[in-house]
Amino acid sequence: MVKKDIKNFTLGELKEEFKKNSEPPYRAEQIFSWIYKKGAEDFSAMNNIPKLFMDKLAESYYIGDIKPLKHLKSIDGTAEKVLFELDDGNLIETVLIYSNKRKTVCISTQAGCKYACVFCASGMNGFKRDLSVSEILSQMLFLEYSLKHDITNFVFMGMGEPLDNYENVSKAIKIMNSPKAMGIAARRITVSTSGIIPGIEKFKELGLQVNLSISLHAANNRLRDSLMPVNKKYPIEKLIKACEVYIDGGGRMLTLEYIVLKDVNDSQKDIDGLSKIAKRLKAKVNLIPYSCVAGLEFKSLLREDVENVESGLLKKGISVTVRESKGKDIMAACGQLAGTIIR
Ligand code: SF4
Repeated sequence: MVKKDIKNFTLGELKEEFKKNSEPPYRAEQIFSWIYKKGAEDFSAMNNIPKLFMDKLAESYYIGDIKPLKHLKSIDGTAEKVLFELDDGNLIETVLIYSNKRKTVCISTQAGCKYACVFCASGMNGFKRDLSVSEILSQMLFLEYSLKHDITNFVFMGMGEPLDNYENVSKAIKIMNSPKAMGIAARRITVSTSGIIPGIEKFKELGLQVNLSISLHAANNRLRDSLMPVNKKYPIEKLIKACEVYIDGGGRMLTLEYIVLKDVNDSQKDIDGLSKIAKRLKAKVNLIPYSCVAGLEFKSLLREDVENVESGLLKKGISVTVRESKGKDIMAACGQLAGTIIR
């Protein structure tokens, strides 16, 4: 019999599995508590589960895991990065960012990425595959239990496009949010998308107050087509309409992510276009100074290099934050995750 990874099941699904096998559904809650609240990696650690049931469990299921290959810390202590190997040899990266009292984990959802944004390392080697629910959750569990970090915020902004792996990402979020599992408040979870409209439409069905951010990076189709090929399929006007429907349906305030690229998307015309979109969507703008990726032509920017864009937006009454690019020295900043071994 092929064993199933128990971390791929939501609580409801696991209860159903147990019911089919005439096992009491409350056993699913006990197992969830062991895995997600105590970090158990083996059924044998679950000392309130009868031996007979545990043996049956181990015949049909296993607790999936991912193998940490490398753990890097930035010199200034503001970021950490873990390179993981998956069962099939694919590599992914997960980042932890420190900011005041926050510890934010940046989670990967795919090995590689098919969207090939020209400023991003994740799509440079193409798309390998979607991550399973278990592989998504294992990144957080490793940081929480093996590295003993008290994570406060969870962002789906690592390698891959989360809404292109909607089924597994939405199940992972349900498990993260469940009081019987990780019990993370929905407001502490953010999903960032390059603008996958069908995913934005489905996102409402989650029924949770999870934050959604849109990686916009350009305010007109001509420029966005050249920076983010996904724009040819889901152009700006259609994306804005999908966002409006999302907000009208009770979605939380959107954030527009904007990587500032020197002399590419930082002119007054770009600022005007961006503020128009932000106003229409009543969205906040998060400016991200570009961090250099080897082999790509763009120049690394510092906070002061984006002040012009920041003040231009502020003058137009837009709520703006500038994200400090942390972990550049370990290639952990936004757009730098490539899933490769750094010596
Ligand atoms: S920015 Fe996001 S969608 Fe674009 S290539 Fe990178 S990981 Fe993929």
